[in-house]
Amino acid sequence: EFISANDLASLMNVSVNEVIKVCLGLGMFVSINQRLDAEAITIITDEFGYDVEFLSAEEEESIIEEDDEADLVDRAPIVTIMGHVDHGKTSLLDYIRNSRVASGEAGGITQHIGAYDVMTETGKRITFLDTPGHEAFTAMRARGAKVTDVVIIVVAADDDVMPQTKEALNHAQAAGSPIVIAINKIDKPAANPDRIREQLAAMNVLVEEWGGKYQCQEISAKSGQGIPDLLEKVLLEAEILELKANPNRNAVGTVIEASLDKGRGYVTTVLVQTGTLKVGDIVLAGSHYGRVKAMTDHRGKKMKAAIPSTPVQVLGLDGAPQAGDKLQVMETEREARELASNRTQLQREQSMRTKKHITLDEIGRRLAIGSFKELNVIVKGDVDGSVEALSDSLLKLSTPEVQVNILNKGVGQISESDVLLASASDAIIIGFQVRPSLNARKLAEQEQIDIRLYSIIYNAINELKDAMEGMLAPTV
Ligand code: GDP
Repeated sequence: EFISANDLASLMNVSVNEVIKVCLGLGMFVSINQRLDAEAITIITDEFGYDVEFLSAEEEESIIEEDDEADLVDRAPIVTIMGHVDHGKTSLLDYIRNSRVASGEAGGITQHIGAYDVMTETGKRITFLDTPGHEAFTAMRARGAKVTDVVIIVVAADDDVMPQTKEALNHAQAAGSPIVIAINKIDKPAANPDRIREQLAAMNVLVEEWGGKYQCQEISAKSGQGIPDLLEKVLLEAEILELKANPNRNAVGTVIEASLDKGRGYVTTVLVQTGTLKVGDIVLAGSHYGRVKAMTDHRGKKMKAAIPSTPVQVLGLDGAPQAGDKLQVMETEREARELASNRTQLQREQSMRTKKHITLDEIGRRLAIGSFKELNVIVKGDVDGSVEALSDSLLKLSTPEVQVNILNKGVGQISESDVLLASASDAIIIGFQVRPSLNARKLAEQEQIDIRLYSIIYNAINELKDAMEGMLAPTV
């Protein structure tokens, strides 16, 4: 027996009465809190047009296996760098990778494998995801992978807080990640870091030296000035998180990127999150599996074992899993092969496995079920004034039962990045006098994100208000 009729109803976004009615129609008498067995669940979900996936006991166990407190040791923080284009994300990543902080370890030509780890001057390890920007960050999150522990937001001191700076802040905040601000290009004559602090303060991001909670460091990604201090601040944030993992168990990690290499076959970069990944391990990642033939780090150095928070390139998988796929070590090749082929099968039949996202029409139903407490909204508009006015009005629609959150607001067309954020945070997108880009529309269709377009502010507010009142007077 798995879950109650009530829980099942809320998972499917239908009222429990509907579930009970369907059961009656099928000759099954169930009550609201009755726990249902696998067969009943399969029949009921089928009636509502859903497929269910029951994890095998082994699979479930390997995912939720709890570690003993005593087995946990500190692990390095995993960091993503975000910020506006040209503010210096790539330069900062490159500087850290190539500079003193990385020295002390055998040199060699560093290569882009999607992530790298360095040793700081104070002897602590930090791992960086090597794809800067919030798109990759949020795409992973939309796929259910939370990899990043701390976010660095880069702002150029000779420029302003820009739209993508705000977007990056919003994406990091939506993920609940601690943020360290790096004010970059401090070497430039036109640098004015106080202006950046001021602009950040104007958006409620108050830096520590001004009494706020955000650590901030002036740096130059060109000369390296301030970078060791920046890394220490990242470590401070990490310390608060008490990041720990158990190195003495079968590894679980996340796929960062994967490709087909002519000479070496499928090459998969994995970030080990817990356990130790070893050469010879049998692994399952997404719908692919294989035996780890060899592992290398970002310097191309061979590795026999990779502890938690270590990025490694793995050879030996039978295909290229997707970024964000979980990788886990399996006991037997047979088991890995079976699970991989099950997943391939499931992917074929997929359609239903795309998580159902909130839509305006569904708000009432979800609220009636009682599982809905927050309505996340992304607002895009043609001019700043209307974006602000609309956002303010929407915030005011919050009731004691439902809090309206504006995850991101900005001027410009609705982008893929907006849709990814909506998918990762289960949000509705409201466009005022703007439309989605072609790619954003395609992605929204695929991810089933509700995009509402308005040309009159009043209509937008009223429709949302109606939807929210619908949830206050449920028609069950
Ligand atoms: P990204 O788009 O955020 O990845 O930005 P880049 O790292 O590509 O940097 C954009 C430009 O700014 C490049 O021409 C860099 O050389 C330059 N740049 C980055 N950081 C600094 C810095 O600290 N000082 C100076 N003077 N130039 C920088």
